[in-house]
Amino acid sequence: MIVGVLVQLSSKSVDKIFDYKVPFELESFIKIGIRVEVPFGHQKLEGFVLEIKNKSLLSLKEIIRVVDQDVILNEELIQLGKVMQERTLSSLISCYQVMLPKALKAKKGTHVTLKYDTYYRLGDISEYKLHTRQQEIVDCFQDHHYVKKEVLCAISRSSVKTLEEKHILIPFQREHYRLSYEDRPFCKNPLTSEQQRVVERVRRGRCDDVYLLFGVTGSGKTEVYMELIEDVLNQGKTSIVLVPEISLTPQMIERFERRFGSQIAAFHSALSDGEKYDEWRRICKGDAKIVIGARSAIFAPVKDLGIIIVDEEHSDSYKQEDSAPRYSAIDIALERGKYHHCPVILGSATPSLSSYARAQKGVYQLLELPNRVNQQSLPTIFTVDMNQEFKSGSRHGHFSIILIQKIKEKLERGEQVILLLNRRGYSSFVTCKNCGYTVKCPHCDITLTYHKVSSMLRCHYCGYAEKNIIRCSQCHEEALTPLGVGTEKIEEELKSMFAHAKILRMDVDTTSRKGMHQKMITAFQNREYDILLGTQIVAKGLDFSNVTLVGVINADTSLNIPDFRSSENTFSLLSQVAGRSGRSKKSGEVVIQTFNPTHYAISYVQKHDYLGFYQEEMKIRRLLKYPPYYYLVYIKLSGKDYNLLEKEGIKIRKSLEKYLKDTIILGPSPAFVFKVNHIYRYGIILKYKKEEHLYEALKLMDEHYLNHNQIKVDINFNPIHF
Ligand code: ADP
Ligand code: ZN
Repeated sequence: MIVGVLVQLSSKSVDKIFDYKVPFELESFIKIGIRVEVPFGHQKLEGFVLEIKNKSLLSLKEIIRVVDQDVILNEELIQLGKVMQERTLSSLISCYQVMLPKALKAKKGTHVTLKYDTYYRLGDISEYKLHTRQQEIVDCFQDHHYVKKEVLCAISRSSVKTLEEKHILIPFQREHYRLSYEDRPFCKNPLTSEQQRVVERVRRGRCDDVYLLFGVTGSGKTEVYMELIEDVLNQGKTSIVLVPEISLTPQMIERFERRFGSQIAAFHSALSDGEKYDEWRRICKGDAKIVIGARSAIFAPVKDLGIIIVDEEHSDSYKQEDSAPRYSAIDIALERGKYHHCPVILGSATPSLSSYARAQKGVYQLLELPNRVNQQSLPTIFTVDMNQEFKSGSRHGHFSIILIQKIKEKLERGEQVILLLNRRGYSSFVTCKNCGYTVKCPHCDITLTYHKVSSMLRCHYCGYAEKNIIRCSQCHEEALTPLGVGTEKIEEELKSMFAHAKILRMDVDTTSRKGMHQKMITAFQNREYDILLGTQIVAKGLDFSNVTLVGVINADTSLNIPDFRSSENTFSLLSQVAGRSGRSKKSGEVVIQTFNPTHYAISYVQKHDYLGFYQEEMKIRRLLKYPPYYYLVYIKLSGKDYNLLEKEGIKIRKSLEKYLKDTIILGPSPAFVFKVNHIYRYGIILKYKKEEHLYEALKLMDEHYLNHNQIKVDINFNPIHF
């Protein structure tokens, strides 16, 4: 027997399937998609068996061993990897590795062990007279076919031993999963008539339809998802629910657990490698039928998919941007939906422009939930012109008078407040008052952020940190001053104004320890804090019934980023955070502070007018030839020599121009952050509607630079960042 094995090599240029001989004694273990260990040069590597053949012309090396009992990549995933490779122009092995939890990748030294528990079955008791303790033990089997050893030993260890010797208790091993879910009593809200209508439409729809569920914040989208999942469960099928990592809170998981108990498997970054491995195995074995997780959960090896749900479908987190394969989990969802002939539901209160455009064209079926559950109204939104506040001098620090008043009012009533500032640290830059010098990262083209808590200046790009000082390195005056505001500073101002309020700051700095994010959300939910202050981490997916005020300290942070999506991102972030207010019986309010009060992204948020925003933004996109009217590809060149980058960039542009007749080519130009960690970055942007030779041309270019030792070229389809 000969097998074709795909291995992980450090070089992208060797992405090939290599043939190996299978020793006779291993033949019966070999299946397509199984993991094996093979000799490769002087090394031993792990890889996946992708082909089984009968002969090969060459004399071959033998595989060393079969790593697992079970297949890791099933047929569907193997096929999916090939599609991903073609669409993203990445290596095939990278497409498979990204699908798997760490412990299952083809990579040595990452394995975790299976754990087992001992259970007992009941043997024949007819011949034996039981005394009290023994009877108690046997009674445990009245409602169960098998019982865990610990449970029985808690009654009497010696009796268990005796009964085992008499073959009345028959032991066996069962896999132990590191996580367990509670099977709680079934709990479910009767749907509102709006929710019911949406559910009916999906029930009556075609099995492979894609739906866009456009439902305002608090309209009960999650409840709709759960109802549809229940249908699917009743048909004996499985479901995948994708949520952004940031909304994968205990709240969300608990809601699913309350309804579906141990049929769920949840993937989030707080799980250990062992826990993720176990969840994967539960899915493979069919023990878990509903998978909830962030981006990579779309690869869960469920069989018989009945529905795929992508909640907050507008979220950037569904696109892997930083490393190859640069895939979109939504594309994968659509692909898997086709494979399984099952519906895909994309849900959002602020659909991405491209999804809404597809719904308008009829590519997606549009479902709407225009009202909040229980007829609550959406929160009232006040916009504050901070130019005026600064001029009139009526503000206090970074707080307008109206925001201060409203916070006071809510605190007095025992209600809770959420404040958003999308910038962590104390101040976003440090400038010399004497000579105007701004402290930059020595490795990156970016200003350092002052963190007062640790008294450090930090680079948010490469992690560089230095002790904060006040003497300027240029003019040597003691005149360095922190400017620009971050969450730490706002926390300080809050404390000075509301001495008795309990304030919880939530950002990357306070939530980096494992489990902190979850702890904080639970504490806020239990009303241990009055004010939750944070970066966009506080904006998404949370459902706190006692929050009646949301304040946005500075709505302009995301507006000022030079990116064609900055208005869309701002509209969506502000609408989402506003949606945290007044979700239950008490009505909610929102205060948005901005230096751009007339900006359309902000005024449409104030009016809760998604459609108005959509129409206005689409006009601009059409005019500037941006998505969804055009597709984009971003080609990133990086290296240490920026002259060389520019020169090669121009070469690339010229050769692409020859191939691509219907494509607009922009650049090469320096990236938004030109230098990160001593590496310079240039970008070329391609815009096209239809381009016959695009993949061919990009493939050629990619191959040309594969082994270039000074320049790295990355191709990113439908980029999120430049
Ligand atoms: P969304 O996901 O659209 O923001 P949720 O599904 O989180 O909305 O619902 C908002 C709140 O309303 C939640 O607390 C939820 O439990 C509650 N809710 C949703 N649907 C119903 C219903 N049919 N009956 C009662 N409460 C509901
Ligand atoms: Zn840096």
